[in-house]
Amino acid sequence: MLAQVRATGWLPNGGLRYQISNEKTSKKKRFAFAALDLVTKEITTTNGENGLEVDRNAERQVVTPWSRSVASGYELLRNPRYNKGLAFSDEERDYHYLRGLLPPAPLSQDLQVKKLMDIIRDYHTPLQKYMAMMDLQERNERLFYKLLVDHVEELLPIVYTPTVGEACQKFGTIFRRPQGLYISLKEKGKVLDVLKNWPEQNIKVIVVTDGERILGLGDLGCQGMGIPVGKLALYTALGGVRPSECLPVTIDVGTNNETLLNDEFYIGLRQRRATGQEYGDLLHEFMSAVKQAYGEKVLIQFEDFANHNAFTLLEKYSSTHLVFNDDIQGTAAVVLSGLVASLKLTGGRLADHKFLFLGAGEAGTGIAELIALEIAKEEKISLNEARKRIWLVDSKGLIVKSRMESLQHFKKPWAHEHEYCKRLLDAVESIRPTVLIGTSGVGKTFTKEVIETFSSYNEKPFILALSNPTSQSECTAEEAYTWSKGRAIFASGSPFGPVTYDGKTFTPGQANNAYIFPGFGLGLVMSGTIHVHNDMLLAASQALAQQVTKEHLEQGLIYPPFRNIRKISAHIAAEVAAKSYELGLATSLPRPADLVKYAERCMYNPLYRDYK
Ligand code: NAD
Repeated sequence: MLAQVRATGWLPNGGLRYQISNEKTSKKKRFAFAALDLVTKEITTTNGENGLEVDRNAERQVVTPWSRSVASGYELLRNPRYNKGLAFSDEERDYHYLRGLLPPAPLSQDLQVKKLMDIIRDYHTPLQKYMAMMDLQERNERLFYKLLVDHVEELLPIVYTPTVGEACQKFGTIFRRPQGLYISLKEKGKVLDVLKNWPEQNIKVIVVTDGERILGLGDLGCQGMGIPVGKLALYTALGGVRPSECLPVTIDVGTNNETLLNDEFYIGLRQRRATGQEYGDLLHEFMSAVKQAYGEKVLIQFEDFANHNAFTLLEKYSSTHLVFNDDIQGTAAVVLSGLVASLKLTGGRLADHKFLFLGAGEAGTGIAELIALEIAKEEKISLNEARKRIWLVDSKGLIVKSRMESLQHFKKPWAHEHEYCKRLLDAVESIRPTVLIGTSGVGKTFTKEVIETFSSYNEKPFILALSNPTSQSECTAEEAYTWSKGRAIFASGSPFGPVTYDGKTFTPGQANNAYIFPGFGLGLVMSGTIHVHNDMLLAASQALAQQVTKEHLEQGLIYPPFRNIRKISAHIAAEVAAKSYELGLATSLPRPADLVKYAERCMYNPLYRDYK
């Protein structure tokens, strides 16, 4: 028997009206239902006589209740995507049944921004400001993004690092309404259905964490959700990806954090972390389900995975999915950009430098690899040859050939022939690097002795203290400038204020990943890219470096001012997309002639729209 399923119109509640007629073979009937589910997700049904119920029971299909409606009146005010608060005009209030539901005075969006900034500035703690921002995001999405775009330098540390770290630690307490999608071991075998529960279908960017290494704070389990939520807010505000196209995901496989396991208010699975096959299977089901639900052009950004999983996942899925790891690749691109920009000040080539890292994890080895790729490309030498200019020290000392046997796989390319040294100072003395980069997560490790030794043979000692938060920075900006006698080129992971040394004021740069990933992601999305290629990361670095002027460099800045970030992101997006078209990895064809203009046109604008 053949079941013909035909959409016949919309129901008053917005559901799809359909008709089922004439059953012939049950096989075809099942096919028809499956196809219909795929297209419309769920059909509002009123009758069980036409065979639908029988078929459902036989198949035990799990589907998502789905409805469509036009918001008006009270519902409109409660819908964060469309709510404009007091900014609804008189006509809109009449037309959308809002009369009397709002006080009479209208307020423009600009005035709303002014009022909210006053309120936020009045809060005493960053966490209170964070909560006020999250409340706003749930109340009035466009106002939230307008606030963030207009006051990006002030609000970035609130919606992202460092405040988001504290928010994750206290997530159980401040948790009000769920944000993002939680996929735990309980959902094993049903991940595709969980994705279908998300209200949006047209997803372009997913940020996913398993919460095992949240910022420098360690395992926060399910409470890591603050990270994907915060990162995606930046994707929209800084990179212009539409909020409806972003999906924050937390994969909950348990936690090894004893405090959370013993906390009666903990919101995640109360068990130790699953590892090995069980972990790999859930991740694999997630990766497959994402591709099935959203296609191959959805960008999956891995965020704050512990380094044993981060490297494995990136390697495993980079040839089958559009994947990006911000901790490894994004950090690398932003740091390389700072180095490239500073060459305008010092002259010479990247290959003239010798690099020494303290810390050989995701950030350290990721940056090292991208520097090596750039040198290999510029000098037309092999990657292995380029790697010889780069040295790393981990918690056990300098990475050298004699340690090869015991090294984790991602450290092995950096094991060069050299005598072993235990201490950073010994490594500085024997290798005599020109660039010193801290990525160990351990503070105060660039001591006076280390910086003085390093500066003793370098005219312009290049110091990057990248560890976060501020307390874990390898040295402060003041220490770097003072101990190098005002000669250092300095940037850090956490922000530092201006420093005056010997009558000259320096403004230290912040190697913030937010410079790169929003524009990078926009470039991939707007070109319909299907795989990330290292050349795209190099293109993003160069694009960011191009935004640094001589004036910036004279003030000590190796990154452009953040207030221009949307312009910077459009520029990065254009260069990334150009590289993707060149490599034949872009599927949005034909290629737009002016990619910068195209990127700007693609960007979400948080200004209110008029409703009719
Ligand atoms: P990770 O855990 O992957 O790596 C840390 C590495 O440091 C490991 O190799 C570890 O063995 C090593 N280490 C630990 N203690 C050490 C010690 N006393 N001496 C030498 N090495 C030591 O972490 P990650 O993702 O690489 O991040 C490291 C730090 O970099 C964090 O503080 C993070 O916040 C910061 N970071 C900054 C930026 C940025 O500024 N844009 C971006 C990413 C990461």
